[in-house]
Amino acid sequence: MHSIEELAGQHFDAVIVGGGINGAGLARDLALRGSISGFRLRILLLEKSFWGHGTSGRNSHLIHGGLRYLKNFDFRLVREALEERGRLLRLCPHTVRPLRFELTCEGLFDKLFYGAGIALYDILAGHHRIGASSYFGQRLSYWDAASDSAALVIDNVREARHYGATCLWGRPVKRLWNEGVELTNGIRVKASCVIDARGPWIQSPALRLVRGSHIVLPRLYPENYATAHFHSDGRIIFFIPWGDLHPVTLIGTTDVDHGASADQVAISGGEIDYLRAITARLFPHAANFPLLGSFSSLRPLISTPGRSATSTSREHSIAFNAQGVLEIQGGKYTTYRAMAEEAANKVVAKIAPEAGLGAIFPTREQPFVVATERPRDVAARLDFARREEGCSTLEHFMTCSTNWAWQKRWTSDELRPIAAAFGGVGIDEFLSRYSPCS
Ligand SMILES: Cc1cc2nc3c(=O)[nH]c(=O)nc-3n(C[C@H](O)[C@H](O)[C@H](O)COP(=O)(O)OP(=O)(O)OC[C@H]3O[C@@H](n4cnc5c(N)ncnc54)[C@H](O)[C@@H]3O)c2cc1C
Repeated sequence: MHSIEELAGQHFDAVIVGGGINGAGLARDLALRGSISGFRLRILLLEKSFWGHGTSGRNSHLIHGGLRYLKNFDFRLVREALEERGRLLRLCPHTVRPLRFELTCEGLFDKLFYGAGIALYDILAGHHRIGASSYFGQRLSYWDAASDSAALVIDNVREARHYGATCLWGRPVKRLWNEGVELTNGIRVKASCVIDARGPWIQSPALRLVRGSHIVLPRLYPENYATAHFHSDGRIIFFIPWGDLHPVTLIGTTDVDHGASADQVAISGGEIDYLRAITARLFPHAANFPLLGSFSSLRPLISTPGRSATSTSREHSIAFNAQGVLEIQGGKYTTYRAMAEEAANKVVAKIAPEAGLGAIFPTREQPFVVATERPRDVAARLDFARREEGCSTLEHFMTCSTNWAWQKRWTSDELRPIAAAFGGVGIDEFLSRYSPCS
C-alpha cells in the first residue's frame, strides 16, 4: 500500500474524498470499469477517519425500498430501491439477508391503509419480491432486507483495492478544487476529476442535516422478525433483531434538524425518551429494560422548502459544483450502487470520453470476489478486522467493524483484552463516549 507522502505531487485520474458507502462504492465501480476494459484508471480514495465512520456505519442497517416513502408518492425512489435491494441480495449474500417485518396497526382504517401500501410495495418490487406478504388479517407483514452496513463499505474498499485503486484512511482533506486536493498536512495530490463524497461534511447551502438516532435494548422477543410501527407523527419506527455477540433489538429512528457540526452528533435525552415511550407502549414488558447503547448519525438531505425533516425526500443529486468538483449528495444506503454508477458515468465522461467506459456497467452483475463471512469468535474476529479490514483502533473495532459497542454495557476489565490488540489504548475514551447515560 502507498503512503500519502509517496503520493505527494502525483497525478490521479480521480480522487474521491470520503470513505462512506458512496465514496467506497464509486471507487469500486471506477476500478472495476478500468480493470474490465483494460483502460487502467488511477483512482485514489481518501478517508479522514476509518471506513464507514460516518452515516454509513451508523444507520438502521436496512436494505429496503422504504415502505413509508409511498405516503409521499415517491414511487420512482421506492421502485429503484427495491430493484437495488434485489441486486444486493443476489450479489452480496454474505452481508445482505432477507428480513420479515410485521406491521403494528391500530384500528380497521390502519389495517386497510397499510395493507394496500404493502400490496403496492409488492407490485413495485415485481420479480424482486422476496417472500409472501400478508395484506389482511390480524397481522400484516412484508419482506425487506438487512445488512451490516459498515461491513459492506469495507467490502467495497477491499474490492476497489483488488481492482487497483489506492485507498487510504486517516487522511483528512482540507481543500478540494477541480484539479486536486490538499490534505491537512499540506500534501497536495493532482487529479483529472475530484469527487466530494463527504456526506454530511459537504458544506452546501442546498443540504439540510437531519439527525437520526437509535437506541439498543435487550431482545424484545425471541422470533427473528422485525416490527415496523407507523407513528402518529408520520415517522416509522423499526424494532430490528440485532447483535451477533448478544441478542439485542435496534430501535429507531428519530428525525431532528441538526444545528451543530457534523463531528458532534449524539442522541439527546428527548430522543431517548421518545423512543423508549413508543417501545413501552408497544412492548409493555420492555418498559424497564436497561439501555445498552445508542448511536446517532446525520442524513444530508436535499432541502425542499415547506417539508418537515421526516417528509423531506431521500432523492439524491450528483452534479459538478461551481469549483468543478463532482458532489454526491443525499440518497439512501440501499441505492448506493446505482448512485456510484451515475457518478462514475460523469467521471469517465470528463476524464476519458473516448475510451468507451461510459457504456459498461460492471457492478450490475459482478459479485464481490473478495467478500468473506466475518468470524464470530472474538480472537478470530480481531484478527480478521486488523488484517482484512485495516481496523486500527478500539473505537473503530467496537463501533464500526463489529457494532459490539451497542450490544452490552462494557467494563474496562472486559475491554482490556480487546484493547490489547490495539496497543492497549482507548479504553477510557471508549467508556466515556459510548457508555449509555441511563
Ligand atoms: C439514522 C439513519 C438511518 C439510516 N438508515 C438507513 C437504512 O436503514 N437504509 C438505507 O438505505 N439508508 C439509510 N440511511 C441513509 C444512509 O445511511 C446514507 O444515505 C448513507 O450512509 C450516506 O453515505 P455517504 O457515503 O454519503 O456518507 P458517510 O457515510 O457519512 O461518509 C462520508 C465520509 O466522509 C468522510 N469525510 C468527511 N470529511 C472528510 C474530509 N475532510 N477528508 C476525508 N474524509 C472525510 C467521513 O469520515 C465519512 O466516513 C440512514 C441515515 C440515517 C442518518
